[in-house]
Amino acid sequence: MPRNPRFDPLFEPVRIGPVTAPNRFYQVPHASGMTNALPRTRAAFRETKAEGGWGVVCTGACSVHPSADDSPLPFASLWDDDDIRSHAVMTEAAHRHGALAGVELWHGGAIVANRTSRLAPISPSGLPWMPTHLGFMSNLKPRVMDRDDIAALRRWQAEGARRALSAGFDIVYVYAGMGYLPYEFLLPDYNRRTDEYGGSVENRVRLVRELIEVTKDAVGDKCGVALRISLEELRKRPGTHAESEAHEVIALLADLPDLFDVKMDSSPTDCSASRFAPEGSHEPVIEFVKKLTDKPVVGVGRFTSPDAMLSQIRRGVLDLIGGARPSIADPFLPRKIDEGREDEIRECIGCNICISSWHDGVPVRCTQNATAGEEWRRGWHPERFDRAEKPERVLVVGGGPSGLECARVLALRGHEVTLADAATEWGGRLRFETKLPGLASWGRVLDYRLPTLKTAANVELYLDSRIGADDALGFGCDRIVVATGSRWTRALYSPLELPGGELNHPRVLTPDDLASGTAVEGPAVVFDFDNYVIGGLVAELLALRGIDVAYATPAGHASAWTLMTNELPRVHQALARRGVGVTTLQTVAGFDGETLTLRHLFTDSGTRLPCRTLVLVGLRRADDSLYQALTARSEEFADAGLRSVTRIGDALAPGAIAHAVHSGHAFGREFDLEAPIYRRDRPFVDFGTFETLPQ
Ligand code: ADP
Ligand code: SF4
Repeated sequence: MPRNPRFDPLFEPVRIGPVTAPNRFYQVPHASGMTNALPRTRAAFRETKAEGGWGVVCTGACSVHPSADDSPLPFASLWDDDDIRSHAVMTEAAHRHGALAGVELWHGGAIVANRTSRLAPISPSGLPWMPTHLGFMSNLKPRVMDRDDIAALRRWQAEGARRALSAGFDIVYVYAGMGYLPYEFLLPDYNRRTDEYGGSVENRVRLVRELIEVTKDAVGDKCGVALRISLEELRKRPGTHAESEAHEVIALLADLPDLFDVKMDSSPTDCSASRFAPEGSHEPVIEFVKKLTDKPVVGVGRFTSPDAMLSQIRRGVLDLIGGARPSIADPFLPRKIDEGREDEIRECIGCNICISSWHDGVPVRCTQNATAGEEWRRGWHPERFDRAEKPERVLVVGGGPSGLECARVLALRGHEVTLADAATEWGGRLRFETKLPGLASWGRVLDYRLPTLKTAANVELYLDSRIGADDALGFGCDRIVVATGSRWTRALYSPLELPGGELNHPRVLTPDDLASGTAVEGPAVVFDFDNYVIGGLVAELLALRGIDVAYATPAGHASAWTLMTNELPRVHQALARRGVGVTTLQTVAGFDGETLTLRHLFTDSGTRLPCRTLVLVGLRRADDSLYQALTARSEEFADAGLRSVTRIGDALAPGAIAHAVHSGHAFGREFDLEAPIYRRDRPFVDFGTFETLPQ
């Protein structure tokens, strides 16, 4: 289909200093968990986006010196010439599709603990960065940079830029954002220097200016030089000569970089989960930048709607539409708009599972796009599917995320698919979870998949169809896929910190009971050791219904695992806003239908809370009764013409939606392959690696 001419402006080229982006789709630097040790994985991940139409694709943070060592978190490096090769495969891959390649040269300053390099972290004034935050906690405090250190930083940046040029990059960054070293100089609370690098805004900007200058000198007229800068905190500070310090900083640097890449200051606001920030949420902070500079400006905002993108361009907020999460969820987003297929965009749901991969130190995972990170390892392409050599008849039981994805992939490969669900609506767990406060956009998991299934000639869909073993065996298919999900149990949490011992009392409920409409009598307590979003959200839901509700957990925080998804601070804010009291480090010691007795995990001290309903959000168990019933009758398979029965998704191992989608995708791609690809990436090994520390 031809492109809708309304979207033509999104496909205009944009000059970035000496280079030209072919369109306005700009994949900004974002963490991928892919270090120099995974060069082919990284190249294929970025190449897929270039192929999908992103005019610029960038690396994540790329350290310029061993004193910027974020381990155990993953990061790239350009510490010496031997690092060049691992990046060159990525730039070549981007260039194959006409995209520009950018590199986010980076020094973490006080944030990094240099756990591997064991160098003292460097900082403007010797203060640790947010030292009570788990990610930044370290016993090794940063030292104060002297003039020689500042000169060394300029050298490292220049050397990094020279190597970036050799690696084939077209855009080279100076990174003054997110608490990293150049940003640390910008912030007056943190930069307490009394020399020419501290005090006035002019002085605090000096380091950033110098880094841009040395980068320009290093790359000459071959690369564009981008400044990535966080503006949230500076914008809150009134300026002496302008509306805010952010205005002053941008005005001082207005002519210097070839591109401004503007963002927020910390992960929870920069990369907020959808439940806390809508599409385009950065605009009120960054909207002024274009008024102060003629240079192009790129920014993000989890843009998935072409109209929202267009509006940013039309209203003069941005010149380039930055994408990190939308480019992970759909590497082919630009191409789909270009080909008039915008209704096929696989929209990011804003769950931030991708970010949890970085915190876990592993290659990126995505709820919506099971192929993210698997492009090279398993040869999975987000848009291309090998046709099955011999189409088979497959019955998929369960229309939740795993069954939907499995059926989609099977259908795209040409198999004859029947998808059945006992419920009267599709979506499985999504039916309840999307009704929880703020989770409506998780419905995109269903919205993306259902239309394909409804229109495919080789798919039959049956709702309101509970499938038993007799039905399945009598169906006459080659394969049965059991995607029947999981159930919440009434298990408690023992003082040994193990799940166990079910609490069966008529006033003990689980999320499944709430999903099926069981009424909750207040006061209620949610006891959560699942630690992801459901416990906190169930408490919010009850509060919204006017029920007096408290939240208790054995963990140290509410929804403790959401530390991994950037949600944790805002989970606490949301619970406080709804009047839900949070009690941490507790186990349940007793419940009689009127009073809940909690016991402190460490001190054993007791707390009694009024409680007429206890909602347990703890252990989920696979609902695999159909699978068990079928495999118990395996001697009947041959007569029934059945070749296999397989469990996928939560029915195999309860997990996040991302796990279920990946599990369904893997079955659809690989069940009929003799030997599915599973490659092991390795670093490029050179032996000229530096023998003295770069000075
Ligand atoms: P997953 O996350 O693995 O996709 P879900 O719990 O979201 O799992 O979805 C499981 C789906 O399976 C639910 O919609 C449920 O109604 C359906 N289901 C469970 N058992 C049966 C069955 N025997 N026949 C048909 N559908 C079933
Ligand atoms: Fe979006 Fe979630 Fe995928 Fe991240 S994991 S890109 S937030 S859908």
